[in-house]
Amino acid sequence: MRKPLVMGNWKLNGSKQMALDLVTGLKKELTGVEGCDIAIAPPVVYLDYVQKLLSDSKIILGAQNVDTHLSGAYTGDISAAMLKETGVTHVIIGHSERRTYHKESDQFIAQKFGILKENNLVPVLCIGETEAENEAGQTEAVCAKQIDAIIDLLGVKAFNNAVIAYEPIWAIGTGKSATPAQAQAVHKFIRDHIAKLDANVAQQVIIQYGGSVNDKNAAELFTQPDIDGALVGGASLKADAFAVIVKAA
Ligand code: PEP
Repeated sequence: MRKPLVMGNWKLNGSKQMALDLVTGLKKELTGVEGCDIAIAPPVVYLDYVQKLLSDSKIILGAQNVDTHLSGAYTGDISAAMLKETGVTHVIIGHSERRTYHKESDQFIAQKFGILKENNLVPVLCIGETEAENEAGQTEAVCAKQIDAIIDLLGVKAFNNAVIAYEPIWAIGTGKSATPAQAQAVHKFIRDHIAKLDANVAQQVIIQYGGSVNDKNAAELFTQPDIDGALVGGASLKADAFAVIVKAA
């Protein structure tokens, strides 16, 4: 039985005051919630502060990025070991915003996946197609290519204790979520694709849906058998909306 994971990606949003208000609200709203793992990924400068706020909570601390190196002359970068020391356990990699704005390739993202595994951190690998790729019927091919980059470098067992977030790019921040049936079809494809190499790995890997998940559409998405929670952007900035999503999972 897979335990769903609902993770909030704050992106480049927030302040100390906002972090305090949001975490206080989440702790209040989510006390006693079982059966779903909950994570939040604030901007890196607030990780230490949020970690302290979460010290009496089961909410998991996540990060939005990691470098491929552990130390050295890499100005501005943050290592897996530094994240771990700050209390982070889950790290988002391959988000479409980083693939687009920072030109991150599948191979570079696979290196990040590897450094996270080496440091016993859980990669949350974002994959998904553009609107044009979707309309051209290339969704499955794009997802397979993004997953195969990890398998080619690290082997399929790298997906043990890892998370995949299927995030169709056309659904991110647009208010236009995939329908539950659309998302389920892709999630099943992803699980079957991994199962061709290792059925056990495929059965346990968490596959989140991401893309305009909110307090209205979450429950229906979570009725689908291969949707194991959500990666949430905009709606994770409001404690009440995020709590509704978590409780739906
Ligand atoms: C995201 O950025 O990972 C995301 C899913 O954003 P939103 O929920 O705002 O679409």
